[in-house]
Formats: sequence, structure tokens, C-alpha cells
Amino acid sequence: MIDRKLLTADVVYNGLGIPRLGAGVALQTVQAETQIIAVDELEQLKSQFPDARLENAGLALSPAPVNAHMHLDLSSMPFSPGSYEDFIRKVIGHDRSGKRNLEAAKDGIIQLQKQGIDTIGDIVTEEDVMVYLLRSELKGVAYWEVFAPDPADADQEFNETVRLLKRFKELERPGGMRVGLSPHTPHTVSEPLLKKLVTLAKQNQLPLQIHVAESAHELALYKDASGPLWELYKPFMPYWQAPGVSPVQYLKELNVLEAQPTLIHMVNVDENDVKAVQTSGCVVVHCPRSNTALECGRFPWELYAKHGITVALGTDSSGSSPNLVLAEELQAARNLHGEKASLQGLIWSAVKGGYRALGMNPPKLTRGTNASELYIWT
Ligand SMILES: [Zn+2]
Repeated sequence: MIDRKLLTADVVYNGLGIPRLGAGVALQTVQAETQIIAVDELEQLKSQFPDARLENAGLALSPAPVNAHMHLDLSSMPFSPGSYEDFIRKVIGHDRSGKRNLEAAKDGIIQLQKQGIDTIGDIVTEEDVMVYLLRSELKGVAYWEVFAPDPADADQEFNETVRLLKRFKELERPGGMRVGLSPHTPHTVSEPLLKKLVTLAKQNQLPLQIHVAESAHELALYKDASGPLWELYKPFMPYWQAPGVSPVQYLKELNVLEAQPTLIHMVNVDENDVKAVQTSGCVVVHCPRSNTALECGRFPWELYAKHGITVALGTDSSGSSPNLVLAEELQAARNLHGEKASLQGLIWSAVKGGYRALGMNPPKLTRGTNASELYIWT
């Protein structure tokens, strides 16, 4: 018994080229096994498979998207909207309570499994979480986070990071998660350490992620060491010397951008910053719900589009997002950007952009692909 169905949606993306309008996916079930038999223009599919039932799946059809920026070990942190500075204080409190741990990460992974998402970029602060991720069925990159603003600690922190990464790298498996490195931000990792870490990453082909231009107050911190972010960090980094340029230009001057780190948030940027990103070929990750919750402002989607920059989507942590559901992140981006961001562009970002952020290629939907590979955006 052969059963055929034509699924259509507002946007159809097979993992190649540009997501299409007016297209569909033909599915065939033989003995309880459903496969894709064609992805094409809907009219073409209708004439090719006149006996197939037509079904509208909703928003989009694509390979499963990527959650390109998460903090799984913060999954037990209550959603904490408010200023970015207050949020950082709450993260520090949550961390000290001991609840930033493997149990929290496992809860986050269950949320991913419910969505059918298995490819992620995750920031990791706990050794047992890193080991767990490297042994899991997940794919993508687990970035070991470094937070060390004191230049006096640079050598010791570097040596410790080298030791840990060596241990983690031994646990990598073909097809599994890879080890990456995440200097937390350009201001919470001292300049000498940041340079050493980036050199290490280049030498060992370690993928990098770094939070940049998230809070609007970052600009004052970098310009002349003033504002609410400086008030927050002053006790941790009294030796901070404002570089007098934006965080993106600071990374450019330190030759960090040329190592092509994936840049997280990038909300408070100007066109020169975006041009610097374009020149370096870095991918940017957009976390709209987190940016709104932490009062960071609106990510200038259209500016990145104008300069042809690859943008991925991420939920960030449970502390700054109501949940880890990527489809809700996409919906939030639609609401936030309105006509400035097309659905085709957003679906491309969630899939292809996400894979690019992790240095990977998306799977393709083609004849013979198992239907379980098809992700339905309702
Ligand atoms: Zn983050």
C-alpha cells in the first residue's frame, strides 16, 4: 500500500539556495516508512503526483534548525527580565547557589529533544557538562567559557584553559559535538589573555563564540569607562582601560575578528562595526527574546542584510528567555522586525545560518530523505 501526500507551507527550504515560496514537499509512505520523494514548485508536484493528498503544514518546511547560542547549564535559572546589569548580578547569584550544573543542562536537553533539534552552539562553564555533551547524541559545538578580566591572571588562566581543552578534545567523537572556546566578552577577558586564547584557537582550529555589543551600556564602558555596566564591573576589573572605540572595533584592533569568532547578540553596533564584521566573514547570532528581556534594544536586522552578513538564531539561556523553543525565537524575530525581515530570510538564518555559525553544513531534503528529517514550522 503506497500513500502519497503533498505538504505545502508559506516557505519551503531544502537546505540549498534560497527558501522558496509556492513550493511543497512530496512524501510517500510504504509499509509505515515515510520518505521524501520530491521537493519542488507546488504546481509541478501536483501534476507529477495527481493522486497525492494536499496538506498545508503552516509556516515553513525545512531541515531541522540550529539553536546557535545557548547556555544549557543555566536551564534551572528562572526567567529574569530586567536590565542587563541586574541580569548579570542574578546569574552570578545563581552560579554561586550551585544550580548551574549538569542537572540543569539535562533539563535543557529534554527541551531540545521535544523540538526535534539536535544541533546547537552551547556555552559551557562546568567540566561535567562538557564531558556529558561530548558523549551525548547532540551535534554542534560546546564552547568552553573563559571569564578572567584581571591581566595578572592571564598566564595562569591560559595554562588552565589549555589543560582543560586538551582533556575535552580527547573526548570528541566523529559526528558528535566538537570542543570550542568562548572568551565571555571582550571586556571580561583581559587583553593579553584574549590574544593568547585567539592564537590558541587558530592553531588548533577551535571554533570561537564571544558575546559582543549586547547591552547599550557597553559603548560607554568602552568609550570612557562610564555608565551602568562600568558600575557593575568596576569591583571585578578596576584596572579596565577603556579602549576608546566600540567593542567590535576593539576586537578588530586586537586581530580577534580575523580568527572569525561567531559573534553573539551584536545589537548595539553602527555601520562601521557591521562593515568590519563583513570584511572578517564572521557569523552573527541573533537572540531576539533575550535582547528584549534584558532591555538591550533591537538588533539591526536590515543593516546585516544590507551587508550580506550571515545571521543565525539562538535562544540564549532560560534566564533571559521564557524557554528554549527556537520556533518561538523565530516568531519573536518576525514580530520585532516586521517587514524588515522576510520569512524566507528568517528560515534561512535558523537553518543555514545556524549551521554556518558552527562551521557546519545543513542536511539536504531530497529524494530518499527520511521524513523524520523534515522540520515543520507551524
Ligand atoms: Zn549568552
